Amino acid sequence: MQAPWDYPDFDDHEVVHFVTDRASGLCAVIAVHSTFLGPAGGGVRFWHYAEPGEAVRDALRLSRGMSFKNAMAGLPLGGGKAVILADPERTKTPDMLAAYGRSVEGLGGRYVTAEDVGMSVADMVAISKQTRHVAGLPVAEGSVGGDPGPHTSYGVFLGVKAAVKRALSRDSLAGVHLAIQGAGSVASGLARRAAAEGARISLADIDRGRAEALASEVGGEAVEPEAIMTLEADVLSPNALGAILTAESIAALKVPVVAGGANNQLATPEDGQLIHERGILYAPDYVINAGGIINVSTEYLKDGDAEVVRKRIEAIPERLNHIWDESIATGRNPARVAGDMARRLIGRA
Ligand code: NAD
Repeated sequence: MQAPWDYPDFDDHEVVHFVTDRASGLCAVIAVHSTFLGPAGGGVRFWHYAEPGEAVRDALRLSRGMSFKNAMAGLPLGGGKAVILADPERTKTPDMLAAYGRSVEGLGGRYVTAEDVGMSVADMVAISKQTRHVAGLPVAEGSVGGDPGPHTSYGVFLGVKAAVKRALSRDSLAGVHLAIQGAGSVASGLARRAAAEGARISLADIDRGRAEALASEVGGEAVEPEAIMTLEADVLSPNALGAILTAESIAALKVPVVAGGANNQLATPEDGQLIHERGILYAPDYVINAGGIINVSTEYLKDGDAEVVRKRIEAIPERLNHIWDESIATGRNPARVAGDMARRLIGRA
């Protein structure tokens, strides 16, 4: 049998908890990758996995990603992630959420949970009845908290602008053609901001109704989901799925810039080198998409107001430029540079 520490995604995780609660049927994995910078912060995913090993791999991979993301965002948080193994119908019950909340509370603050795929703000509220170590709760207008999506969008928008300035020497998105994959929370915030600055928007979503509604709202065009990755444009902005940048898809790209909010865009680390060799400017995903976790962290640690959140998000372009500068200076690709910087920050250089 394969031991968890033999998994390819095991990266000296500090602790990995396997949680079960017979009464509610809860089965979860909580992976704490690093607490070097602070409590391990990261969302909880509610997902049906074809086999449980995939859930363990996801928790290992995503928690390491959170260590890197939080460190690169300058937050006093380590990295962790939880996955709840759902049945094929994805039945979620109040008892299950309560049991999950108790398991997080049992870790005494070493892991702070938040919303991720398959979870909602209402679920976070339910979990908060059992534990203090939860963020992303609804708040009054103007206070820090709530849905991280709009904050992620704002950071992605600023990151796209920084990439456009760098690669195309343009100070504004006016007339810049963005090909946006996805029409969900992050994509829609980006599309609205970019359109307001005069960008030309093409977008695609497997939910065609959603794509068409957003396209018509922002005066853009909806294209087929299969077409978005090979569209001739100034920027490809992935805001849907992970692992979309593969040897094959990179070879077919017709853009000078890839900058978007989707997590884990590169299918393998080698793909960071391939995209670099094609002369395409790549914005490492966990750097450009940190706006949401910046908001979550500020809510949980209570170390700032909405203005502080805004300033922290507005530091994202500077970080990207730092990475791109070091890439030029060293010849290493931006994904590798970001990974090396993050490792140094969490004491694992
Ligand atoms: P969302 O669920 O609101 O939107 C995702 C959209 O992608 C959906 O409309 C879905 O139909 C679409 N989609 C799925 N597969 C697709 C495909 N093959 N082609 C085109 N569209 C497809 O999710 P979101 O919150 O906007 O997150 C988008 C991405 O950004 C995810 O990778 C997420 O992990 C990442 N992210 C989100 C946040 C946040 O704060 N919401 C923060 C960091 C990273």
